[in-house]
Amino acid sequence: MTELRAGGATDTGLVRDHNEDRYLLDERLFAVADGVGGHKAGEVASQTAVETLHRAFTEPTTENLVEAVKTANRTVWNLAEANSDQRGMGTTLTAIALVDDGDEDRLAIVNVGDSRAYLLQQGQLEQLTEDHSLVEQLVREGQLTREEAHVHPQRSIITRALGLDPDVEVDSWELTPYKGDRLLLCSDGLTNEVSDDDIASTLRTVSEPEEAAMQLVNAARDHGGSDNITCVVVDVLDDDDRAEAASAALGAEPPPPPERSVTRAAPIDEGTGGASRTTTTTAARLDPPASRATPLEPRQRRLTWRVLAFVLAVVIVIAGGLVAVGWYARHTYYVGLDRGQVAIFKGRPGGLLWFDPTLDQRTSLAERDVPAARLPDVKAGQEEATRAEAQRYVNALREESAAAAQSATTVPPTTVPAPAPAPPVTTP
Ligand code: MN
Repeated sequence: MTELRAGGATDTGLVRDHNEDRYLLDERLFAVADGVGGHKAGEVASQTAVETLHRAFTEPTTENLVEAVKTANRTVWNLAEANSDQRGMGTTLTAIALVDDGDEDRLAIVNVGDSRAYLLQQGQLEQLTEDHSLVEQLVREGQLTREEAHVHPQRSIITRALGLDPDVEVDSWELTPYKGDRLLLCSDGLTNEVSDDDIASTLRTVSEPEEAAMQLVNAARDHGGSDNITCVVVDVLDDDDRAEAASAALGAEPPPPPERSVTRAAPIDEGTGGASRTTTTTAARLDPPASRATPLEPRQRRLTWRVLAFVLAVVIVIAGGLVAVGWYARHTYYVGLDRGQVAIFKGRPGGLLWFDPTLDQRTSLAERDVPAARLPDVKAGQEEATRAEAQRYVNALREESAAAAQSATTVPPTTVPAPAPAPPVTTP
């Protein structure tokens, strides 16, 4: 049985006068919601969303979790429709649940809006969710850089939320939990104030989940606290010996793929019909920090084996390519110029990579003897596949040059010397 431990913290921050963020901690369900709407409607939206999610998540499956988010959406929507002063209210919702995939425990992650889920694994922090925000869209379209998005005045505009429409598109992912993994759910009040690097360093150093959540909230306050801040930290304490099983398998047979497969299933975008889309992204494991010395953990060993095999394969491909390029660079010829003389070079005009052409033979044909029509080719380097063809080209040049020289001496009709006057004929 996978065992989890979680802690959470929330704070109004230094600028807002009330807290519209809500979070949920249950045995196998964790969530963060960030409400928006005037007259305290934001609080109603986020509170309603987490309560409904909790109530509607009845079976430990990813599908049920997604359905529970949709139920929460409809509940907030109905409430907003029924109460004029709550019209237009909405909320983000990001949740993690422990689910079953057949016999195996998995973690399901769902998201609507710009609250986030992160995974800290072997010291490396990775954002699991994708923000549904205007700036994220602009970054994806290449119109903004990550850095510009971070300080953009409209960075809090969200493009998807619960309660704005009777139906909502829910992003979902699944991953296999391993002992030592740590997940973070947070509202944008944290991520707008604290960098991913600082988040990672707190998550790496503070062992108690609740203490880590509190320190992250305090870090956001220290950076200005311009919004409500909420953090939930979930630790995987026990993983059903999955890591050990993987290690045993390593000794006996080829290891299982080292990538943690994250399956994302989201309904297709508007305009393309109601079919559902599933894309699978893989996140390669990163090398553990050097400070994590021996003994290596099973997955680290598996990682190293795989990385080595991969690096070796890459090296072989690159070496093969270089041999081919080198062969090509050294086994072709061209006719060019060397210090005013026509010459045959081995290689490619101008060289290829670091293979410079080498002078094979200078000929007796001078640049000024090259027929004008051929000169541009020769100057650029007339390429020939073999040494013999290069030589034939030089011979042709020589012949043309000789023909041109000959016509130059014969064509201007030279005056035939007048016959010498006949000698006086003397008759005896
Ligand atoms: Mn917020």
